[in-house]
Amino acid sequence: MLKDQDRIFTNLYGMHDRSLAGAKQRGHWDGTAEIIARGRDKIVEQVKASGLRGRGGAGFPTGLKWSFMPKASDGRPAYLVINADESEPGTCKDREIMRHDPHTLIEGALIASFAMGANACYIYIRGEYIREREALQAALDECYDAGLLGKNAAKSGWDFDCYLHHGAGAYICGEETALLESLEGKKGMPRMKPPFPAGAGLYGCPTTVNNVESIAVVPTILRRGPEWFAGFGRPNNAGTKLFGISGHVMNPCVVEEAMSIPLKELLDRHCGGVRGGWKNLKAVIPGGSSVPLLTQAQCDDAIMDFDWLREQRSGLGTAAVIVMDQSTDVIKAIWRLSKFYKHESCGQCTPCREGTGWMMRVMDRLVRGEAEVEEIDMLISVTKQVEGHTICALGDAAAWPIQGLVRAFREEIEDRIKAKKTGRMGAMAAE
Ligand code: SF4
Repeated sequence: MLKDQDRIFTNLYGMHDRSLAGAKQRGHWDGTAEIIARGRDKIVEQVKASGLRGRGGAGFPTGLKWSFMPKASDGRPAYLVINADESEPGTCKDREIMRHDPHTLIEGALIASFAMGANACYIYIRGEYIREREALQAALDECYDAGLLGKNAAKSGWDFDCYLHHGAGAYICGEETALLESLEGKKGMPRMKPPFPAGAGLYGCPTTVNNVESIAVVPTILRRGPEWFAGFGRPNNAGTKLFGISGHVMNPCVVEEAMSIPLKELLDRHCGGVRGGWKNLKAVIPGGSSVPLLTQAQCDDAIMDFDWLREQRSGLGTAAVIVMDQSTDVIKAIWRLSKFYKHESCGQCTPCREGTGWMMRVMDRLVRGEAEVEEIDMLISVTKQVEGHTICALGDAAAWPIQGLVRAFREEIEDRIKAKKTGRMGAMAAE
């Protein structure tokens, strides 16, 4: 179990003063100029050595991503963009950082921007996060007043501005290139890659887009040392991590824990366990709505990190753990996700635009049992035609939960179809 002294997010539950004075008492903004004085290369090297992998879902090594930014300026400004458009169903971890611990993020933004040669950072925050926007803006204002932002930020010799920009409710704007389009004032539609943002990002300039948590952990890593952070979790899965646990547990919560914690331990220790006990567990989506679910048998041994979950054909994603007990209509749960992805598809590429609609309509009939058994294979065939054939990962995100459902609960789907044909369909499925 992670000890209190090893927690990065010391005000996750809003028990303490989130203002600058409170943040300083808890150790933030301590020696920021000295960290920056280490120089760009050293900071990037230390972030690489910490083993930090992106906390937004993809798990790409953060230090490596930073190293893609050009070393020397070619006359274009460079930018850091922080992706705070947290909209994946089940995911609410960044919300807690921005709401209760905004200074961890702003200090991280300064250090990360310096390490990438950026004098400006944009925080793109989800439009519905109004309280979080207010908390962040208040913290930014405090920082400007205190000289922690602006000219010679925090007496580091680095000029740095940080701006807050809010979205308008489109999930797709959490995709990094759609986010850049939106920030530029255009429709939030993903761009073809290459070019990648490090070469041509915001306004065609070198840009790195990082998740809120990825940036907020950086000051503590650099203060306590990369070895400290790398000491948590299994190899290649380093660090502490925020987990957001919802669904059928006694006490849903967002909690910081060591990476690679067993799922059962995570739920028992922080959530009071599964409603009705572990035996009442039916399935868990371990990483936000885009990743395939785990069956009860998989959950028995589940280790919450990137590599273990990938080996199970699932993923850590955003570490949003959605727990479903035996009372859950799991077909209906995945149908609801299909509806979400169909609604959020930006529509610019055919496999996603048409495929998400196909998948949702078949799922719609499977929920009611009004399909043929053969259509299950047809549905999987559609998911394969979408997966990997689209401009951005939304197509994959729509396909994977269905593939996971069919892998794990094919019998339940078939039983429902048969029950419907024989007039024995249960009340729940008929809703
Ligand atoms: Fe838009 Fe979907 Fe294509 Fe992504 S995969 S660009 S959301 S149509």
